[in-house]
Amino acid sequence: MFRAEYDDPEGGRHGGLPTFNYRHAPGGLYTRRQLALMGLTPGRQPIAAQILWRRGKRVAYLYRKDLARPKRPATPAQLRALMKAWVVLSTCPSCGTEYDYYIPRRYGECLDCFDGRKAN
Ligand SMILES: [Zn+2]
Repeated sequence: MFRAEYDDPEGGRHGGLPTFNYRHAPGGLYTRRQLALMGLTPGRQPIAAQILWRRGKRVAYLYRKDLARPKRPATPAQLRALMKAWVVLSTCPSCGTEYDYYIPRRYGECLDCFDGRKAN
């Protein structure tokens, strides 16, 4: 369904950012996720436009495909850093066990430790 109130190609009502309804964005503009699927990254370009949906409660930013750059694969050093961060985030600080999930931040330890503490 066409919702005229979200079609604002000049961006006059949205702080100068061209605003479109979901599915009404002009060609050549894509979200970061859509660009990633094409092997591209927005690079340093500014946000070109935004789309609103769910009655304006959800927003997605659009970038120009012609300004996007090819995504470079991560270097070995970047991969090592990612792995290290992952190990830190998935190791329980209380019992030292490494899990295949991230330790929940709101518990600060693994679920076994958290449950054990609750039971005591
Ligand atoms: Zn633990």
